[in-house]
Amino acid sequence: MSTGYVWEEIYGWHNTGNWAGAVPAGLNAQPYQHFESAESKQRLASAIEVSGLAKELTKISVVPATIDQITMVHDSLYIERIRKDSESTFGGDAGDGLSPFGTGAYEIALMAVGGAIAAFDAVASGEVDNAYALVRPPGHHARPETGMGFCIFGNAGIAIKNGMKKFGLKKVAVVDWDVHHGNGTQEIFYADPNVLTISLHQDQLFPPKSGYAKDQGIDAGQGFAINIPLPAGSGNGAYLEALKEIVFPALEKFAPEIIVVCCGFDAAMTDPLGRMIVTASGYREMTRELMKIADKVCGGKIVMTHEGGYSPTYVPFCGLAVIETLANTTTEMKDVLAEFWDALPDQKVQEWQVERIKNIKSQLTFLSDN
Ligand SMILES: [Zn+2]
Repeated sequence: MSTGYVWEEIYGWHNTGNWAGAVPAGLNAQPYQHFESAESKQRLASAIEVSGLAKELTKISVVPATIDQITMVHDSLYIERIRKDSESTFGGDAGDGLSPFGTGAYEIALMAVGGAIAAFDAVASGEVDNAYALVRPPGHHARPETGMGFCIFGNAGIAIKNGMKKFGLKKVAVVDWDVHHGNGTQEIFYADPNVLTISLHQDQLFPPKSGYAKDQGIDAGQGFAINIPLPAGSGNGAYLEALKEIVFPALEKFAPEIIVVCCGFDAAMTDPLGRMIVTASGYREMTRELMKIADKVCGGKIVMTHEGGYSPTYVPFCGLAVIETLANTTTEMKDVLAEFWDALPDQKVQEWQVERIKNIKSQLTFLSDN
């Protein structure tokens, strides 16, 4: 059993400036750090080294994605704008005014896509059993003609398009458990029945008016997009319930050749942007259960690409839990807060959450068709 791992130091150099969270610094807000700073990612990479986990992983080398690969998803004018703005000493913005970047962001974003591609290819080719690509900037909000939500290029979407062509794959499934709707990945494959996209997210958090249960794809892709908008406050029990009630039956029915997880840790306790309460043990359990389904449907082939997660102190525990599970190991680095946070009464799935999940399931044509 081997688990591939992608991390490049340059990912930590993606410069999102001195914003105060999501507010531009200036007379309105004292300069601080943008929410999407390097901290949570670099600290996870560091924990992977210090815990000894890195020694049990297969490091995957990364080369920048090519323009041909990026244009499988993105508009040429958009790519060129990012390249030009990224040359400037002032940097630019990916497109929504919330996603600033500094000099060199273009090259770093190409490396992030390259990391997702390398991880996908390593799993698809059988070089490793599964893989975790700890990449930055994130990608699941990036749309074909513009970046948004701190994302520049659609890392996972491009890796899937590229990998399906390269390996002649017919069916790939995406499970996005970042707390925000995976709108970019969904849009890329919205009319495509060969890629099933499933997003679990906090209802209406970001982007606004996106990720409704009724949004299920168009044309030939009708039914092949699944959205599971969970209520704020959902914890380990609610997430597992949604996985078991909707995600796993959908995966079994679709029978993908490979499962790509857009892995965000912003549904975790203490995240400054999400209002969910998932803990490191919750992520461990979610990964363990997903691996059982992957064993059943696609020989265990799972590729995870890192998305959001903005708690610099808690993301490392959540990331370790997921990657340890993928690698079928544990380290001595423990989440000591589990004693408190796993015991919260709201970690158990609540009756009203069960009802909400049932209601979402009842709307899904993918699961109702025979
Ligand atoms: Zn997110």
